[in-house]
Amino acid sequence: MGLFQQVVLRSIRRQLSSLGSEKRPPFIAGHKLLYTCNLRCKMCPFWRRQDEKLLSLEEEKLMLKALADFGVSFMGFEGGEPLLRRDIKDILAASHSLFHTSLVTNGWFLKERARDIKDYLDYLFVSIDGIGELHDRLRGIPGSFKKAVEGIKEATKYLPVSISSTITRENMHQAEEIVELGRSLGVSVSFQVAYDYSTADKMSPDAQRLRGVLERLLEMKKQGYPPIVESKEYFMSVINSWYHNDPWECKPWLTINIDPQGGS
Ligand code: SF4
Repeated sequence: MGLFQQVVLRSIRRQLSSLGSEKRPPFIAGHKLLYTCNLRCKMCPFWRRQDEKLLSLEEEKLMLKALADFGVSFMGFEGGEPLLRRDIKDILAASHSLFHTSLVTNGWFLKERARDIKDYLDYLFVSIDGIGELHDRLRGIPGSFKKAVEGIKEATKYLPVSISSTITRENMHQAEEIVELGRSLGVSVSFQVAYDYSTADKMSPDAQRLRGVLERLLEMKKQGYPPIVESKEYFMSVINSWYHNDPWECKPWLTINIDPQGGS
């Protein structure tokens, strides 16, 4: 084993053993495979970072083994754009032999790549933040909505797929349309709220208007809209925590996030 591999492995083990002091192994691991991305999303800090040395395939496998030994059972890959890694199929294959494995992609390369990776994924998330031109504007590259939809249509032939949508101040009025898009494509939709990173455009939504969107999504969920992934309890906890000052129970032992160099 090379020196760099030893350092990476030691670093992962140290992070895991410090989490182990909680006596609860992390259940889910999230791993950014790289920061490089072909899109230029306004709210995203990651494409603005230079990728330094990425973990090699061998180092990725060592890290996955260490996570499995520690008791992780769900592995989620993201980026940057993970499908830009040439060895993505091998990384996913190694992960799928150990974990329930999911991937988040912007969908640009999905139509061509879905067949390659389908056997090594349990779940696929494709990011869509608006309908048509709005998505393209937020994502910074014309044609990205069309590519993502084409990718979803191809991937659903093989895999369970969800749209992953980030609610920002510029797209919050389209949340319902995104749920309808999911329904028309036969996929579910997962929502998260934009976070304002210091190195990206500030896109988090106005609190009062956001409340209306969250309450509408909760209502749709109660009416049995099958495509919304988040539970009623999740929406209620967020609303109660943000607008009624109920304490939010943080469960740090449930996840570990690993950057492209194997740190967390
Ligand atoms: S697709 Fe994802 S990683 Fe790429 S710029 Fe957008 S948010 Fe960032």
